[in-house]
Amino acid sequence: MKLIQKIKETKRPFLIAGPCSAESPEQVMNVSIEIAKNGNAHMLRAGIWKPRTRPDSFEGMGAIALPWLVEAGKETGLPVTTEIANRHHAELALKAGIDVLWIGARTTVNPFAIQEIADVLRGVDIPVMVKNPVNPDLELWIGAFERLEKAGIKELAAIHRGFSIYKHPKYRNVPTWELPIALRERLPNLPVICDPSHITGRRDLLLEVSQKAMDLNFDGLMIETHPNPDKAWSDAAQQVTPEGLKAIIDNLVMRSTAISASDASVLDELRHKITSLDDRLFDLLSARMSLSEEVGLFKREHNITILQQEHWTRLIASRLAKTDDYKLTERFVRQIMDAIHQESIRHQTKVMNKKA
Ligand code: PEP
Ligand code: MN
Repeated sequence: MKLIQKIKETKRPFLIAGPCSAESPEQVMNVSIEIAKNGNAHMLRAGIWKPRTRPDSFEGMGAIALPWLVEAGKETGLPVTTEIANRHHAELALKAGIDVLWIGARTTVNPFAIQEIADVLRGVDIPVMVKNPVNPDLELWIGAFERLEKAGIKELAAIHRGFSIYKHPKYRNVPTWELPIALRERLPNLPVICDPSHITGRRDLLLEVSQKAMDLNFDGLMIETHPNPDKAWSDAAQQVTPEGLKAIIDNLVMRSTAISASDASVLDELRHKITSLDDRLFDLLSARMSLSEEVGLFKREHNITILQQEHWTRLIASRLAKTDDYKLTERFVRQIMDAIHQESIRHQTKVMNKKA
């Protein structure tokens, strides 16, 4: 199967849908037919081996469910994909005729597991999609692609499913969008699919995150879809019905990645103004750091520590009090102030420790 070509030729979003877990032959077949009938999906998914956090959760139906997925693929004419986490899963999935494999977040973190899978797939012509590791480590994600590439796997795609976090008020896994964007910079030809189901953990946020992924030029979406989501054996809160899936896709606003010549000239003008403002910002930052060095020299002469906690706490508080006037978020103001402070400490440390 030529996955990359298919993704590139498909009008965005390339959509992968199906249940978190395969539960019975009827469940897989019925939901697949419904998904295919709505016409938006390009690939079917179902988990058969489930990497569950706690040991007494449902851990998947195992290999007996492989033919259910293959049958659903034949019936609908759509390619099918499932998650593999070790060499046995890889061998069984290949033998059953699964079209595309995916590697889950808990497997991407483990180079031994990835290498073991790559070794089984050596010389096999099968596309593999690699989810990001649970932790936001770009090199680890890239390492998985390199291991598979070295084993001769040419059809590769990435799935962004967010990163593990302790008790986030909004997300199950925080998106940290800069990571998939950085992956794109490093591997520009790799298709990137967003998995809003595992990012949000709740169905009411799926549209918002899917829209964001489309506005960031992701190639596609993987959305968990179940005939009766509330009764699902895994990830119940985040799954949608086939109708729910259709509503999400129908409500997406698709914007073009290409720019017309007249739009480009308007944008160029605005961007030019932005660049001159950025020039001024950096000139100011540079002047500010010269003052930090003067402060550092003074502290050195008078034997005063670099960090004056109370002064810094006051500075931060007075900036944060003005976020509304600036029309900037508290988080952004905090990040900017922290970055300036770090750089200022670096300049002060440099003059403080300079040999006389
Ligand atoms: C899944 O897609 O059902 C899954 C287990 O995903 P992840 O590896 O992102 O947790
Ligand atoms: Mn799931």
